[in-house]
Amino acid sequence: MSDDKTLFGKVALIGIGLIGSSMAHAMRRAKLAGHIAGYARRPETLEAAKKVGFADSLSGDVAAVVRDADLVVLATPVGSFGAIAKEISSVLKPGAIVTDVGSVKTAVVRDVGPHIPEGVHFIPAHPIAGTEQSGPEAGFPELFDNRWCILTPPPGTDPAAVEKLKLFWQRCGSNVDVMDPKHHDLVLAITSHVPHLIAYNIVGTADDLEQVTESEVIKYSAGGFRDFTRIAASDPTMWRDVFLNNRDAVLEVLGRFSEDLSALQRAIRWGDGDALFNLFTRTRAIRRSIVDAGQDSAAPNFGRNPKKS
Ligand code: NAP
Repeated sequence: MSDDKTLFGKVALIGIGLIGSSMAHAMRRAKLAGHIAGYARRPETLEAAKKVGFADSLSGDVAAVVRDADLVVLATPVGSFGAIAKEISSVLKPGAIVTDVGSVKTAVVRDVGPHIPEGVHFIPAHPIAGTEQSGPEAGFPELFDNRWCILTPPPGTDPAAVEKLKLFWQRCGSNVDVMDPKHHDLVLAITSHVPHLIAYNIVGTADDLEQVTESEVIKYSAGGFRDFTRIAASDPTMWRDVFLNNRDAVLEVLGRFSEDLSALQRAIRWGDGDALFNLFTRTRAIRRSIVDAGQDSAAPNFGRNPKKS
């Protein structure tokens, strides 16, 4: 049962890793759900979730978890959404909202949309919040606080259902924007996907550089490399699926990035200090805007404890 405060009677979390478990914590904090049911494939994931205790029920039977749910959240890697949607299609409750938290949106509309029956509301979503940790123990209730969540409802979606999901994310601590899925994918390609690719690449390059030993890379990492390694520690399955499913936007942004990198290479080769100085001045201002918008800490060293870092 749900009252005004609980918003949803039963919420089914398909995937209970960092994002799914954080949603459960945030829902409990704001008392948004009458019953939180969690699904994962592996018994060890279910066992870990049970120990943390953020769900009212846990099962490896996806249909049982989804049955009677008023809100169904797909929170597994993006590449698995289509098959899961197909499997749960016949047990979805009429009037329920099906949403997701996937980091790409066009592919989700393509893969999940066709399996959503008439009378069920499908509203893709992406909370722009995360850490490099994964699994049920990684979640925490504040993950979405003051972060943005982007909804990409297909044309014709019931406005009342969109409002309800909006309210849900606001009560989880987020600010909410509504966007076209294609635009979402381009925005995220530049703000998240390509930065991750660059981090994976630089860490891989360092690993391959024979003249510099691994112990030197680790010992001197505070020179900038260390911050890339944090991003490059993100879950391999999730990120493989992001790149396979946001190919067009990522390739578009990478093309621009490569051109700009060549211009920098040229500036260094020809000793064009002004070009370097002007770019670095512009980028420093962007960092300041991010801190001013409350999207990061201005503390030196990203707020890391200097004794530990
Ligand atoms: P995670 O911590 O690795 O958790 C993934 C969950 O899905 C686990 O419960 C896992 O349990 C299950 N799972 C994995 N592969 C599956 C498959 N093929 N079929 C069914 N279940 C599977 O991942 P996460 O960081 O929470 O990410 C989940 C989703 O959130 C992804 O779509 C990602 O794009 C999106 N997202 C992530 C972040 C971030 O920073 N991490 C931010 C925003 C959005 P079992 O392996 O036991 O099944």
